[in-house]
Amino acid sequence: MKLTNENYFSIEADREYFSVSQFKSWVKCQAATLAKISGEFEESYGKALVVGSYTHAAFESDEEFERFNKENQSEIFNARGGKYADFKQADLMIETLKNDKFAMYAMEGEKELIFTAELFGVKWKAKIDSINHSRNSFTDLKTTRSLSQRYWSDKYQKYVSFIEAWDYVLQMAIYREIIYQNTGIYYSPYIVAVTKEDPPDKAVLHFDDTRFQFELDYVEHLIEGFKQVKSGEKEPTRCGKCAYCRETKQLDGTIEVEELLV
Ligand SMILES: [Zn+2]
Repeated sequence: MKLTNENYFSIEADREYFSVSQFKSWVKCQAATLAKISGEFEESYGKALVVGSYTHAAFESDEEFERFNKENQSEIFNARGGKYADFKQADLMIETLKNDKFAMYAMEGEKELIFTAELFGVKWKAKIDSINHSRNSFTDLKTTRSLSQRYWSDKYQKYVSFIEAWDYVLQMAIYREIIYQNTGIYYSPYIVAVTKEDPPDKAVLHFDDTRFQFELDYVEHLIEGFKQVKSGEKEPTRCGKCAYCRETKQLDGTIEVEELLV
């Protein structure tokens, strides 16, 4: 299957390829992920996905931003022609970055390019926010609550920043390998982060190279199991907590009070 902007996010593409977001979904709940790529279950993201795409479109090009606004008019604009609160907040974040020369410099490059590669015996797809072939670098745009917020991480067994908490280091490590397979060069990843605070905070983040091997080992350790579930060789495990698991839950007995917190 040849990936294009039209089919990149399709179920067919998700069946044939792994992606970082799909990998994160497998880690969270195998049963829900399998149901999603079988078309049996659709996850509800509310407005978050549209707001995210809106913000990305603003940095892609003026034409793309205009097209996106037209296409999603009813979700962005209220009856009086004003924007809904989520999009007003997004405008504030967009403006903050557009007024910062260094942030704009970091985002210079070709936008939303699709790459594929084989890693750990499976096919992967990636859409890179911004890639700069003359600097051998790529950049991803992230919005977050606050730059310094701490989150407990079971994966790292310590308090971490939003970057580790949302597996953005893993994302950068995988993208770096995918780009390497296509260009023969390891590109340097950057994240341009902007917060949902008023006024928004911002930062351009680079990554110490020593962070990547841990993430690649982590993916390698888990991918074989996910591959087997995806191909139907193995039954998926249920997380028991997500929307899909709650929706499809059938009780067959009682649980002791202690089990509620397991
Ligand atoms: Zn689940």
